[in-house]
Amino acid sequence: MQIYLYNTLTRQKEAFTPRDPQRVTLYVCGPTVYNFAHIGNARPVVVFDTLYRLLQRAYPNVVYVRNVTDVDDKINAAAQAENVPIGTITERYYEVYRADMAALGALPPSMEPKVTQHIAAIVSMIERLIANGHAYEAEGHVLFNVPSFAAYGQLSRRARDEMIAGARVDVAPYKRDPADFVLWKPSPPDLPGWDSPWGRGRPGWHIECSAMIERNLGPDTIDIHGGGHDLIFPHHENEIAQSTCAHGGRLFCRYWMHNGFVNVDAEKMSKSLGNVLLVHDLLQTAPGEAIRLALLSAHYRQPLDWTDAGLKDAKAQLDRLYRALDALKDVEAPAAPAAPAAFLAALADDLNTPKALAELHQLANAANKATDTAERARLKGELLAAGWLLGLLQQDPSVWLKGEVAKAAIAPEEIEGLIARRHAARARKDWAESDRIRDELAARGILLEDKAGQTTWRVAS
Ligand code: ZN
Repeated sequence: MQIYLYNTLTRQKEAFTPRDPQRVTLYVCGPTVYNFAHIGNARPVVVFDTLYRLLQRAYPNVVYVRNVTDVDDKINAAAQAENVPIGTITERYYEVYRADMAALGALPPSMEPKVTQHIAAIVSMIERLIANGHAYEAEGHVLFNVPSFAAYGQLSRRARDEMIAGARVDVAPYKRDPADFVLWKPSPPDLPGWDSPWGRGRPGWHIECSAMIERNLGPDTIDIHGGGHDLIFPHHENEIAQSTCAHGGRLFCRYWMHNGFVNVDAEKMSKSLGNVLLVHDLLQTAPGEAIRLALLSAHYRQPLDWTDAGLKDAKAQLDRLYRALDALKDVEAPAAPAAPAAFLAALADDLNTPKALAELHQLANAANKATDTAERARLKGELLAAGWLLGLLQQDPSVWLKGEVAKAAIAPEEIEGLIARRHAARARKDWAESDRIRDELAARGILLEDKAGQTTWRVAS
């Protein structure tokens, strides 16, 4: 299957060719965990989960890394407000985040590295940037010297004045150039900090991603880097500068993908308008699967207008699709069903999810009309395989149609898949990964029991 992706770097749709087809690498900027995720935060999660699923169908080994920013000024402020350590805040909201995203059918990424566990990697990268003349220390800060990297601005294609204004960086007296940005900053005694060659301090936001990519995916060029449109500048521009300069000019990433904004009733979501929709609250009123379908109903690069009517329509679409599946309950889907070519072509065309959804409805139409047993079995398999790629239709149709959204919100096949991954982790003595998968399932309401080398599971009561 040839996948085509729109590359922000070249402003073109390109045929996707991984550097190494045996190890496809995908990195997506993850959450800063100090409050609940809103629907705008959920969009990249669902979009890149769909990409992850498609890549897994096309390539044998896809490594998907989504970081967790667990040290940040907003986290510090939240911790001080409650008079607790930052870990109390970040653990609480990270758990909520994982549970909310799981409810939207997002598969756990291969790795979810945390900034606080990568301070040494961050310090090492900053040291290299200083050593090769791209960064400098000034008054306890370390800054990246933007004029030292001639290609700066290649991703956002902004003019220099625009970049300086857009970055909204302080024009501090210790900066050599107004565009220079912070890699490391000093921490006063009442804020979290780590010892470094430049005194006690904490990392800037941009360097985190460069260092975590290098440590978990690199140091070679990665295939795909994703995130929201708002991250193109300055965040991703700065990641390119840092990683390219720390790696002697080697290309950092080949394909850059950015999803559009989510508006609510045609207005920008903002605290001041009081229209910020939290995923956690939406899940009280609608099944996660309907929220997911609503998020996939527009092409990912377009803005998405979130409305109650859109969510209701998504639920009605799922009712229709599940009714078609339920009517096929007397036939067995083939053992390894494949999604039909037209559906795959839509998804492989820069994730054209509106078209893929239309193809899914075509399949349901065909299934509703079919009378031949073999054809009905084939169509059932195609519906399930196509549904899986969109992260839809994996529940028992009778459960969905009864309106009893499964408490666990996870399909048995996904549970079995995670158990298999956990077994593999245990076999290579990767206890952290094994525990992570167990915790992940527990957060989704599934409890594991290990007995005599076998793992069984049950839904938590
Ligand atoms: Zn990032």
